[in-house]
Amino acid sequence: MSPKRQLSQAKSKAKKRDFRRIATEEAFSVPEQMEAMKEVLARQTEYDPDLFLWKTQTDPNGPFNKPLLDLEGERMKIMDRDGVDMHLLSMTSTGVQMLAPEKAREVAIASNDQLAAVIQRHPTRFSGLATVPPQDVPAAIKEAERGVKKLKLNGIMINSHTNGEYLSDRKYWPLLEAIADMKVPLYIHPRAPIPAMAAAYRTDHLEHAIWGYQAETGLHGLRLITGGVFDAIPNLKVVLGHMGEALPYWLYRLDYMWCKVPVKFSDRAKLKKPPSEYFKQNFMITTSGMNWNPTLKFCIEVLGADNIMWAIDYPYQTSPDAVKFMNGAPISDVDKAKIFHKNAERVFHIKSE
Ligand code: MN
Repeated sequence: MSPKRQLSQAKSKAKKRDFRRIATEEAFSVPEQMEAMKEVLARQTEYDPDLFLWKTQTDPNGPFNKPLLDLEGERMKIMDRDGVDMHLLSMTSTGVQMLAPEKAREVAIASNDQLAAVIQRHPTRFSGLATVPPQDVPAAIKEAERGVKKLKLNGIMINSHTNGEYLSDRKYWPLLEAIADMKVPLYIHPRAPIPAMAAAYRTDHLEHAIWGYQAETGLHGLRLITGGVFDAIPNLKVVLGHMGEALPYWLYRLDYMWCKVPVKFSDRAKLKKPPSEYFKQNFMITTSGMNWNPTLKFCIEVLGADNIMWAIDYPYQTSPDAVKFMNGAPISDVDKAKIFHKNAERVFHIKSE
């Protein structure tokens, strides 16, 4: 290669490295999860929106199976190509939440062990969130503690509801307390709406990422607030993807309807603060799958750039789109550095460079 060409390549590499890029909602799978979900699929009798996607995910010729199972091959090449320094990995939705409790525990342990091993091999390229089985709260607490304290994972991932139940249900509070005590965040990732809500989303198949995921996961986040979780566990930090699952857009009306409307519900929790205050203090959002400047600018204005983290949503959405979006976002370099890496380093305890 000519010296001139070498110089120009070095320059473009240097340019790429203007910001460290940590992508914070990047999915992976392990063979144990695939096998367990194939068993669930084999027992399926009626249409289930989550299992509908699992049919594709478990198909070796489908678009997601290989990219989910691959960590050190094609994925790292794509990261290098697009200038992505690190994937914060999490087991793909629905995690272990559709499995029987004992199987869920087994698969979570197997996955967390493999995740820790790949991070150990590539500590500057990967970090990760532990999978836990919420259907068995004591086992979930045990695995959360093992994942963070022993395996040094960076937080916990739960894929919205478990058997139609939300984490605002008091039986889950010991798990939320254990997570808050370890000072790591809980990332609540979408899955299709709870059975009680699902029928209305069936028409035109609105039940997946087009709308249903956001309705399900936004409601889950809201119910943590209105259920009084953050008055009881003020140190709990929750991360929502997809620019906050639409909650930032609704904060004014949540406050108005909770605090000011002259209709009172005696069976609502008495909160110490208006709902928006909890959202601003206890939540962080990521840009996963929402590569759109108007939403980004709005969320910076409402929540502050300290509360937003960059994400791709690999392999479901593409890495070049997400990189191009944040590279070109019409925001200050100070805010861009926070969103690309500084907030993730702070919140997920990732070593800064
Ligand atoms: Mn995702």
